[in-house]
Amino acid sequence: MRRFFVIANWKMQVEAEEARELARETVRLWAAQGAANPAVTVAVCPPFASLDEVREEISGTPVSMGGQDCFWESRGAYTGEVSVMSLKDAGCRFCLVGHSERREYLGETDGMVRKKVRALLDTGLIPVVCIGETREERESGRRDAVVIGQLKAILEGNRPIGSQEVIVAYEPRWVIGTGQAVSPEDAASMHQLIYDTLEGMFPSDTVERQFSVIYGGSADAENIGGFLRMPVIDGCLVGKAALSAKGFVRMAEAAADIAKG
Ligand code: PEP
Repeated sequence: MRRFFVIANWKMQVEAEEARELARETVRLWAAQGAANPAVTVAVCPPFASLDEVREEISGTPVSMGGQDCFWESRGAYTGEVSVMSLKDAGCRFCLVGHSERREYLGETDGMVRKKVRALLDTGLIPVVCIGETREERESGRRDAVVIGQLKAILEGNRPIGSQEVIVAYEPRWVIGTGQAVSPEDAASMHQLIYDTLEGMFPSDTVERQFSVIYGGSADAENIGGFLRMPVIDGCLVGKAALSAKGFVRMAEAAADIAKG
Protein backbone atom coordinates (compact mmCIF):
# COMPACT_ATOMS: atom_id res chain seq x y z
CA MET A 1 0.00 0.00 0.00
CA ARG A 2 1.29 3.48 -0.81
CA ARG A 3 2.07 5.86 2.04
CA PHE A 4 1.36 9.61 1.83
CA PHE A 5 2.29 12.74 3.77
CA VAL A 6 -0.13 15.66 3.77
CA ILE A 7 1.59 18.50 5.59
CA ALA A 8 0.21 21.98 6.31
CA ASN A 9 2.46 25.01 6.39
CA TRP A 10 0.53 27.70 8.27
CA LYS A 11 3.38 30.18 7.78
CA MET A 12 2.79 33.41 9.77
CA GLN A 13 -0.91 33.38 8.92
CA VAL A 14 -2.36 32.58 12.36
CA GLU A 15 -1.90 33.75 15.92
CA ALA A 16 -2.11 31.45 18.91
CA GLU A 17 -5.88 31.22 19.40
CA GLU A 18 -6.55 30.96 15.67
CA ALA A 19 -3.91 28.22 15.46
CA ARG A 20 -5.64 26.39 18.31
CA GLU A 21 -9.00 26.62 16.55
CA LEU A 22 -7.57 25.48 13.23
CA ALA A 23 -5.82 22.56 14.91
CA ARG A 24 -8.97 21.60 16.82
CA GLU A 25 -11.07 21.62 13.66
CA THR A 26 -8.42 19.71 11.69
CA VAL A 27 -8.33 17.05 14.42
CA ARG A 28 -12.13 16.91 14.64
CA LEU A 29 -12.48 16.31 10.92
CA TRP A 30 -9.55 13.89 10.56
CA ALA A 31 -9.62 11.98 13.86
CA ALA A 32 -11.83 9.04 12.96
CA GLN A 33 -10.55 8.75 9.41
CA GLY A 34 -6.92 9.22 10.36
CA ALA A 35 -7.10 6.40 12.86
CA ALA A 36 -8.55 4.22 10.10
CA ASN A 37 -5.97 5.32 7.51
CA PRO A 38 -2.47 4.91 8.90
CA ALA A 39 -1.09 5.11 5.34
CA VAL A 40 -1.71 8.87 5.44
CA THR A 41 0.36 11.01 7.78
CA VAL A 42 -1.26 14.37 8.42
CA ALA A 43 0.83 17.09 10.04
CA VAL A 44 0.47 20.81 10.70
CA CYS A 45 3.32 23.29 11.01
CA PRO A 46 2.20 26.27 13.10
CA PRO A 47 4.25 29.38 13.89
CA PHE A 48 6.69 28.81 16.79
CA ALA A 49 4.63 30.92 19.19
CA SER A 50 1.60 28.65 18.72
CA LEU A 51 3.28 25.27 19.19
CA ASP A 52 1.99 24.86 22.75
CA GLU A 53 -1.61 25.63 21.86
CA VAL A 54 -1.48 23.26 18.89
CA ARG A 55 0.18 20.51 20.89
CA GLU A 56 -2.68 20.63 23.39
CA GLU A 57 -5.14 20.04 20.54
CA ILE A 58 -3.29 17.31 18.63
CA SER A 59 -1.77 15.18 21.35
CA GLY A 60 -3.16 11.65 21.28
CA THR A 61 -4.72 12.23 17.84
CA PRO A 62 -3.65 11.10 14.35
CA VAL A 63 -2.48 14.66 13.54
CA SER A 64 1.25 15.36 13.98
CA MET A 65 3.07 18.66 14.32
CA GLY A 66 6.13 20.22 12.71
CA GLY A 67 8.22 23.35 13.07
CA GLN A 68 8.62 25.79 10.19
CA ASP A 69 12.38 26.17 10.72
CA CYS A 70 15.13 25.40 13.21
CA PHE A 71 18.74 26.27 14.01
CA TRP A 72 21.64 23.87 13.54
CA GLU A 73 23.41 24.44 16.87
CA SER A 74 21.93 22.76 19.92
CA ARG A 75 22.49 25.66 22.37
CA GLY A 76 24.33 28.94 22.68
CA ALA A 77 24.31 32.67 22.03
CA TYR A 78 22.06 32.64 18.95
CA THR A 79 19.46 35.29 19.60
CA GLY A 80 16.09 34.55 18.09
CA GLU A 81 16.93 31.04 16.95
CA VAL A 82 15.08 27.85 17.92
CA SER A 83 16.93 24.60 18.62
CA VAL A 84 15.81 21.25 17.31
CA MET A 85 15.62 19.88 20.85
CA SER A 86 13.19 22.60 21.87
CA LEU A 87 11.02 21.69 18.86
CA LYS A 88 11.14 18.07 19.92
CA ASP A 89 10.21 19.00 23.49
CA ALA A 90 7.32 21.05 22.13
CA GLY A 91 5.97 17.92 20.44
CA CYS A 92 7.24 18.28 16.88
CA ARG A 93 7.87 15.25 14.71
CA PHE A 94 8.78 17.14 11.53
CA CYS A 95 10.48 20.40 10.61
CA LEU A 96 10.46 22.36 7.35
CA VAL A 97 13.86 23.59 6.21
CA GLY A 98 14.92 25.69 3.23
CA HIS A 99 11.46 27.02 2.45
CA SER A 100 11.61 29.41 -0.49
CA GLU A 101 10.24 32.27 1.61
CA ARG A 102 13.19 31.88 3.99
CA ARG A 103 15.58 31.68 1.06
CA GLU A 104 14.06 34.82 -0.46
CA TYR A 105 13.52 37.05 2.57
CA LEU A 106 16.12 35.77 5.03
CA GLY A 107 19.01 34.68 2.85
CA GLU A 108 18.81 31.01 3.78
CA THR A 109 21.35 29.02 1.75
CA ASP A 110 21.78 25.36 0.87
CA GLY A 111 24.76 25.31 3.25
CA MET A 112 22.55 26.40 6.14
CA VAL A 113 19.85 23.92 5.18
CA ARG A 114 22.43 21.14 5.10
CA LYS A 115 23.42 21.84 8.72
CA LYS A 116 19.78 22.02 9.79
CA VAL A 117 19.08 18.64 8.19
CA ARG A 118 21.95 17.07 10.13
CA ALA A 119 20.76 18.59 13.40
CA LEU A 120 17.22 17.32 12.78
CA LEU A 121 18.32 13.80 11.89
CA ASP A 122 20.62 13.63 14.90
CA THR A 123 17.77 14.67 17.19
CA GLY A 124 15.20 12.31 15.70
CA LEU A 125 13.01 14.76 13.78
CA ILE A 126 12.09 14.30 10.13
CA PRO A 127 13.37 17.13 7.95
CA VAL A 128 11.07 18.35 5.19
CA VAL A 129 13.67 19.73 2.81
CA CYS A 130 12.18 22.33 0.46
CA ILE A 131 13.81 22.76 -2.93
CA GLY A 132 12.64 24.22 -6.24
CA GLU A 133 13.42 26.64 -8.99
CA THR A 134 12.36 30.25 -9.60
CA ARG A 135 10.41 31.19 -12.71
CA GLU A 136 13.52 32.81 -14.17
CA GLU A 137 15.55 29.66 -13.57
CA ARG A 138 12.90 27.55 -15.29
CA GLU A 139 12.47 29.89 -18.24
CA SER A 140 16.21 30.06 -18.83
CA GLY A 141 16.43 26.26 -19.03
CA ARG A 142 18.22 25.84 -15.70
CA ARG A 143 15.39 24.14 -13.79
CA ASP A 144 16.90 20.68 -13.59
CA ALA A 145 20.42 21.90 -12.82
CA VAL A 146 19.12 24.13 -10.01
CA VAL A 147 17.10 21.37 -8.38
CA ILE A 148 19.88 18.79 -8.69
CA GLY A 149 22.37 21.35 -7.34
CA GLN A 150 20.19 22.09 -4.28
CA LEU A 151 19.66 18.42 -3.59
CA LYS A 152 23.36 17.61 -3.76
CA ALA A 153 24.45 20.64 -1.76
CA ILE A 154 22.02 19.76 1.03
CA LEU A 155 22.10 15.97 1.08
CA GLU A 156 25.31 14.60 -0.42
CA GLY A 157 27.18 12.91 2.42
CA ASN A 158 24.25 13.67 4.74
CA ARG A 159 22.93 10.13 4.67
CA PRO A 160 20.00 9.19 6.91
CA ILE A 161 21.09 6.27 9.07
CA GLY A 162 19.17 3.64 11.01
CA SER A 163 15.51 4.52 10.91
CA GLN A 164 16.05 8.19 10.06
CA GLU A 165 13.79 9.54 7.33
CA VAL A 166 13.98 12.54 5.01
CA ILE A 167 11.12 14.14 3.11
CA VAL A 168 12.06 16.23 0.08
CA ALA A 169 9.42 18.80 -0.87
CA TYR A 170 9.65 19.83 -4.52
CA GLU A 171 8.15 23.30 -4.63
CA PRO A 172 8.45 25.27 -7.86
CA ARG A 173 8.86 28.68 -6.23
CA TRP A 174 6.96 30.60 -8.84
CA VAL A 175 3.65 28.81 -8.22
CA ILE A 176 3.64 29.02 -4.41
CA GLY A 177 0.61 30.95 -3.19
CA THR A 178 -0.58 31.76 -6.72
CA GLY A 179 -3.49 29.32 -7.03
CA GLN A 180 -1.85 28.00 -10.23
CA ALA A 181 -0.13 24.67 -9.60
CA VAL A 182 2.09 23.04 -12.22
CA SER A 183 0.55 20.01 -13.93
CA PRO A 184 0.84 16.61 -12.23
CA GLU A 185 2.94 15.41 -15.20
CA ASP A 186 5.33 18.33 -14.80
CA ALA A 187 5.66 17.71 -11.04
CA ALA A 188 6.09 13.96 -11.62
CA SER A 189 8.95 14.52 -14.05
CA MET A 190 10.73 16.60 -11.41
CA HIS A 191 10.06 14.01 -8.73
CA GLN A 192 11.55 11.37 -11.00
CA LEU A 193 14.62 13.57 -11.46
CA ILE A 194 14.87 13.96 -7.68
CA TYR A 195 14.59 10.21 -7.14
CA ASP A 196 17.20 9.57 -9.86
CA THR A 197 19.55 12.08 -8.21
CA LEU A 198 19.03 10.47 -4.80
CA GLU A 199 19.79 7.07 -6.34
CA GLY A 200 23.10 8.50 -7.48
CA MET A 201 23.92 9.61 -3.93
CA PHE A 202 22.67 6.77 -1.73
CA PRO A 203 22.09 3.02 -1.97
CA SER A 204 18.76 2.11 -3.55
CA ASP A 205 17.32 0.56 -0.40
CA THR A 206 18.11 3.76 1.55
CA VAL A 207 16.27 5.82 -1.06
CA GLU A 208 13.34 3.44 -1.10
CA ARG A 209 12.91 3.12 2.65
CA GLN A 210 14.12 6.46 3.98
CA PHE A 211 13.18 9.10 1.41
CA SER A 212 9.83 10.48 0.31
CA VAL A 213 9.28 13.23 -2.23
CA ILE A 214 6.21 15.44 -1.86
CA TYR A 215 4.88 18.28 -4.04
CA GLY A 216 4.14 21.84 -2.89
CA GLY A 217 2.81 24.82 -4.78
CA SER A 218 -0.90 25.73 -4.87
CA ALA A 219 -2.02 22.17 -4.17
CA ASP A 220 -5.63 22.03 -3.00
CA ALA A 221 -8.60 19.70 -2.59
CA GLU A 222 -9.46 19.97 -6.28
CA ASN A 223 -6.06 19.13 -7.74
CA ILE A 224 -4.42 16.84 -5.15
CA GLY A 225 -5.81 13.65 -6.70
CA GLY A 226 -3.96 14.33 -9.95
CA PHE A 227 -0.68 14.70 -8.09
CA LEU A 228 -1.05 11.71 -5.80
CA ARG A 229 -2.04 9.36 -8.59
CA MET A 230 1.49 9.85 -9.93
CA PRO A 231 3.53 6.97 -8.42
CA VAL A 232 6.54 9.22 -7.70
CA ILE A 233 4.53 11.80 -5.70
CA ASP A 234 4.35 10.81 -2.04
CA GLY A 235 2.19 13.61 -0.70
CA CYS A 236 1.77 17.36 -0.62
CA LEU A 237 3.01 20.36 1.33
CA VAL A 238 0.09 22.74 1.55
CA GLY A 239 0.07 26.47 2.31
CA LYS A 240 -3.03 28.49 1.53
CA ALA A 241 -5.43 25.55 1.19
CA ALA A 242 -4.51 24.33 4.67
CA LEU A 243 -5.92 27.46 6.30
CA SER A 244 -9.34 25.85 5.87
CA ALA A 245 -9.51 22.71 8.02
CA LYS A 246 -12.28 21.38 5.81
CA GLY A 247 -10.32 21.83 2.59
CA PHE A 248 -7.14 20.44 4.14
CA VAL A 249 -8.86 17.35 5.51
CA ARG A 250 -10.48 16.77 2.11
CA MET A 251 -6.93 16.58 0.78
CA ALA A 252 -6.01 13.99 3.38
CA GLU A 253 -9.19 12.04 2.49
CA ALA A 254 -8.21 12.06 -1.18
CA ALA A 255 -4.81 10.67 -0.18
CA ALA A 256 -6.51 7.94 1.88
CA ASP A 257 -8.68 6.94 -1.09
CA ILE A 258 -5.68 6.71 -3.41
CA ALA A 259 -3.65 4.78 -0.80
CA LYS A 260 -6.42 2.19 -0.64
CA GLY A 261 -6.09 1.78 -4.41
C1 PEP B 1 4.19 26.51 0.66
O1 PEP B 1 4.40 27.70 0.93
O2 PEP B 1 4.95 25.61 1.09
C2 PEP B 1 3.04 26.21 -0.16
C3 PEP B 1 2.95 25.01 -0.69
O3 PEP B 1 2.12 27.20 -0.30
P1 PEP B 1 0.81 27.18 -1.24
O4 PEP B 1 0.13 25.86 -1.07
O5 PEP B 1 -0.01 28.34 -0.74
O6 PEP B 1 1.30 27.38 -2.64
